[in-house]
Amino acid sequence: MTASKHVYGIGIGSNRVHPRHGRPAAVVEAAIARLARDHELFDASPILLNPAFGGAGRDFANAAAIVESDLEPEAMLASLKFIEHEFGRRPGKAWGPRVLDLDILAWDGGDYHGRALTIPHAALGERASALVPLAQIAPDWRITGGLALRHLAARLRRARRKN
Ligand code: ATP
Ligand code: CA
Ligand code: CA
Repeated sequence: MTASKHVYGIGIGSNRVHPRHGRPAAVVEAAIARLARDHELFDASPILLNPAFGGAGRDFANAAAIVESDLEPEAMLASLKFIEHEFGRRPGKAWGPRVLDLDILAWDGGDYHGRALTIPHAALGERASALVPLAQIAPDWRITGGLALRHLAARLRRARRKN
């Protein structure tokens, strides 16, 4: 078997009950299994429960996964949007309640700036719900040659203590 071309860190979130899968944590679990059907699933984090923010009104369940794929970034984003749609997500307010949110948090190709896609994800360094699970499974990953994820996570923890 030949190795895939790229490694991606995917952020997975849900804060809405799914008619079949149930509560957000179960949606996230089902989404990880679904990702593994289309991509080589290298690792997945435990599921974190985070209090809702931005008026969304419920708890978020979050996790991160490392997948290997031959897809280039735009095609990877399209494949994630396809899965979101399959899970019943329809276009709507950003940060509102949503059954499934799949973001590309990082990849092994450095900085990527497309028309509607930025990697690393613009909020990765300041959003614990994305950074903590990814740092759990890839603590030594240096995003775009900067700090390792565990150092970014430690920095975020320190910044939060000061707030
Ligand atoms: P946030 O970006 O703050 O996490 P969100 O995930 O709620 O917000 P969405 O409505 O899911 O935002 O996505 C809006 C658009 O963001 C997508 O259609 C996509 O084109 C764009 N986008 C830019 N960078 C990324 C990325 N790294 N991963 C996923 N989507 C991205
Ligand atoms: Ca998101
Ligand atoms: Ca998104």
